[in-house]
Amino acid sequence: MVDGRGRGGDPDEFDDLPSEEDIARFGDVTQTCPECGKEVFDDTEICYHCGHALSTAAGSAKSGKWVVATVVVIVAAFVLVAVLRVF
Ligand SMILES: [Zn+2]
Repeated sequence: MVDGRGRGGDPDEFDDLPSEEDIARFGDVTQTCPECGKEVFDDTEICYHCGHALSTAAGSAKSGKWVVATVVVIVAAFVLVAVLRVF
């Protein structure tokens, strides 16, 4: 106990603040794998811990938003044309 505190713990762990290289390496775009619960990069298609396919959920969510946005724009365009024809 006393000897461990005297040495100041592991020097490698608290040697320095995280360098820019470390921050760039890890980034802040991480997500948690729903299958194994481990942290993976946000743009990772397949979890490198358990092999779970991550791109399907993220991809469908993104494309779903785009489909909704496209439909809204098309409907708005039709409404605008209809209103203009009335006048
Ligand atoms: Zn996983």
